[in-house]
Amino acid sequence: MSGLLFDVPATPLVPIAGHDARFPVHRIFCVGRNYAAHAAEMGHEVDRETPFYFTKPASAIVHDGARIAYPPGTTNYHYEMEFVVAIGAPAFRIPVAEAMGAVFGYACGLDMTRRDLQQQAREKGRPWDLGKAFEESAPIGTITPAADFGAIADQAIRLNVDGAVRQEATLAELVWSVPELIAHLSGYYHLLPGDLIYTGTPAGVGAVTPGARLVGEIDGLASLSIEIGPEA
Ligand code: MN
Repeated sequence: MSGLLFDVPATPLVPIAGHDARFPVHRIFCVGRNYAAHAAEMGHEVDRETPFYFTKPASAIVHDGARIAYPPGTTNYHYEMEFVVAIGAPAFRIPVAEAMGAVFGYACGLDMTRRDLQQQAREKGRPWDLGKAFEESAPIGTITPAADFGAIADQAIRLNVDGAVRQEATLAELVWSVPELIAHLSGYYHLLPGDLIYTGTPAGVGAVTPGARLVGEIDGLASLSIEIGPEA
């Protein structure tokens, strides 16, 4: 007999600017401490020895315009505005000079974080999953193809919360560049079309409560709007 024992959620599909086809999400990689000012506000220095990562399940994706529930188990629920890279070609052990060939496009993203649980885990040397890899923790906006975005330079990245600017930086402040991240990650994974890389957040992270409206913007990309709903 064939067939499924039960149904599971469908693969999340992200809209693409100017295309009817959507981008199916395979995996979500997230980079830690990739802006010096954010590393400092979290009590750390940037490590130029090696980047580090955590992951979220693809099922954590939520789309532009969504209202997401205030998650359970936290009293310190934080936003982290991020530049997201969408992978469109396989990459394994790829050199930095060839890494951009694996990029499909870019999007605005939010790495929503249960900061209290992340910090408890960090202090105890435990994994970050409870703090990072939970339901509705990976909002993403419409993907813009790389050719339409152009070179990654000093585009502004900012987050507004209830109309006030809370995070503001430029992509020139990324400690690890996009090709460096792709090359490094490809030394540990067979990167595949459908993978996303959330490239880290600038300084200014903070807590939100039910009713907050987040609007993330990066020059050249579609904005990302999310509302925080009541507790789950
Ligand atoms: Mn982050």
